[in-house]
Amino acid sequence: MMSNNPVICYISLGSNLDNPVKQLKQAINELSVLDNGMLLLQSGLYQSSPMGPQDQADFINAVVKLETTLSADELLAQLQAIEQRHKRIRTQHWGPRTLDLDLLLYGNKTINTGNLQVPHPGIPERGFVLYPLYEIAPDLEIPTGESGSALLKELVAKCKDKTTTKYSKN
Ligand code: ATP
Ligand code: CA
Ligand code: CA
Repeated sequence: MMSNNPVICYISLGSNLDNPVKQLKQAINELSVLDNGMLLLQSGLYQSSPMGPQDQADFINAVVKLETTLSADELLAQLQAIEQRHKRIRTQHWGPRTLDLDLLLYGNKTINTGNLQVPHPGIPERGFVLYPLYEIAPDLEIPTGESGSALLKELVAKCKDKTTTKYSKN
């Protein structure tokens, strides 16, 4: 495995099956002991209505900040391995899941390969991503390709998702 310079990353976590709060806490723990990584910050927990199919439970969400020497592809593989340990089963698109880990940002890189798109394209519309991300990184700028960027605080101000609320029973 190549050793790269450390890169700051943000990862979103979501769960709506099999004790979501416990799923997220365990996943954050697993992220904190990743080889070649260091967990720097974690948001509080949030609750959101499902996207897509509505006949499923609300989600619990959070975002963490990680420093890692893994490449983006290696990090994605690690995230998918953690999802597998949480018995994630892929059935319907945007259906219920025990754990979803999305790589939101990898430094200030924009990546568009077959299986990885960074910044994650859902960031601008998704309150369950924007609010926890803003909680831990209020001054963040999101690369938008070429040399452009968007200010996270402006995305938050424009966000129309009213279903995401702070989850207080943690
Ligand atoms: P969404 O990506 O809209 O949130 P989802 O999380 O339900 O939907 P998944 O079924 O978890 O989608 O993932 C489908 C594929 O998305 C993965 O196999 C992965 O290769 C790809 N992917 C592309 N970009 C990313 C990213 N930034 N983080 C995680 N997976 C990504
Ligand atoms: Ca997702
Ligand atoms: Ca995903």
